[in-house]
Amino acid sequence: MSIKQPFEFIAGSPALCLVDTLGDRGGKGNERLPDPGTLDLWLAAAGLSSQASDAANREDLDEARALREAIHRCGLAVIVGEDLPAADLALVNRAASAMPLRPQLIGGRIVHHAGEPVRAALSLLAADALALFVDPLRQRLRQCPECRMMFLDTSRPGKRLWCSSAQGCGNRAKVRKFRARQAAAQNGGNAT
Ligand SMILES: [Zn+2]
Repeated sequence: MSIKQPFEFIAGSPALCLVDTLGDRGGKGNERLPDPGTLDLWLAAAGLSSQASDAANREDLDEARALREAIHRCGLAVIVGEDLPAADLALVNRAASAMPLRPQLIGGRIVHHAGEPVRAALSLLAADALALFVDPLRQRLRQCPECRMMFLDTSRPGKRLWCSSAQGCGNRAKVRKFRARQAAAQNGGNAT
């Protein structure tokens, strides 16, 4: 049996998948990028790096997390229809200005390469976020009311409320509502 894929890429865009590397935002927070090595693994899993190990250093990790939180705050502003926070937008713009990965034809195949591979990968994520902020699709940006995960609702009706994570947020909320209704009915029954 294969090892369980440790990362979920279900947020609907690469930038939002980065945002979701901090899980449980409504609670204690679940840091899925605890060290530079894990950032390398995540970037490789996201298809943004040809180097699966030993590329990221501590500074890169800090930069990745800062970019992640700036995109998150901008996303929250988009959801409520407010202007993007200026400092956060400046940070995303700065990250996007780094030289991205460039293709090289080596030994008959394309290899993506950069002098600073992690900054290059982050610049692609920042560019993805910037494009999303001005795309009409931004109206489909959502935050799961259960786990606070940010995602793009790509369903055709565009009425998705909950994320599609393996935690089953929609189901959990429905079960809770059902139990509350049951309890209310029972209490009502006892009262009469
Ligand atoms: Zn959720």
